[in-house]
Amino acid sequence: MPELPEVETVVRHIGPLVSGRSIEGFTAHWHKVTAPETAERFAAQVTGQRIETFVRRGKFILLQLEHGWVHIHLRMTGQLLVADNGQKSNAHIRASFDLSGMRSLLFKDTRKFGRIGYLNDLAILMDKLGPEPLESSFTPHQLANMLHGSRRQVKPLLLDQSFIAGLGNIYVDEALFRARIHPATAARAISTVKAHRLHRAIQEVLTESIRLKGTTFRSFRFGADQSGEFRQSLQIFGRMGEPCPNCGTKISKIRIAQRGTHFCGRCQRKIGAHNS
Ligand SMILES: [Zn+2]
Repeated sequence: MPELPEVETVVRHIGPLVSGRSIEGFTAHWHKVTAPETAERFAAQVTGQRIETFVRRGKFILLQLEHGWVHIHLRMTGQLLVADNGQKSNAHIRASFDLSGMRSLLFKDTRKFGRIGYLNDLAILMDKLGPEPLESSFTPHQLANMLHGSRRQVKPLLLDQSFIAGLGNIYVDEALFRARIHPATAARAISTVKAHRLHRAIQEVLTESIRLKGTTFRSFRFGADQSGEFRQSLQIFGRMGEPCPNCGTKISKIRIAQRGTHFCGRCQRKIGAHNS
């Protein structure tokens, strides 16, 4: 599933191609792509409006219109493509925006979990999202306080979009490895020093991945079928049984909160509540 670096890559690639253009029409090629809203009502809300800005918040792609916002969530396999009109023969296109200048913004989605919606006011969406991990306003001190205020295990907590926005399974495993924190550790048991280390690890892993245009496992693509190159830089995710790059111990994979979780049992020791 695309996480913050992949969504950021899409936004940086697609934004300049569509910003400033007007939406002249919208067609759903799969009836649930705008669910729970009907495609007809969505089309009526966005048609005739200019795309002012094209930005990311958490894992959402946001198109600021003259009035209101379009939000797009890629979920498992969603992709955005820009095509000149007439080039719509691509398979798995679930929706298309006709834009001024004979251009189309296409939403391709093999698995059909992705969604497109419209909001007059973004607050309803923003209220559900935690801080942006790469914003300068998100500080190590803030993360430590947030962790210490939770009774949950650190891995599911970091996956919770209302705790921090944008992280998913890949980057949580990578950040916890870099910070040497066992993924099942109780968040409140993480020392302030380790919390600060985790903050740095989250920012580093996301920044490095954005630089390499994200991680492509199966289906992440942007632009003309380009894929991200961060996969080679993953130290722990998807490497069960391979030697830990730090100590050589075989990398383990367990399930935590139903999610496959990679860690090194030697570098990321599970700690008690008073010993981190
Ligand atoms: Zn290790």
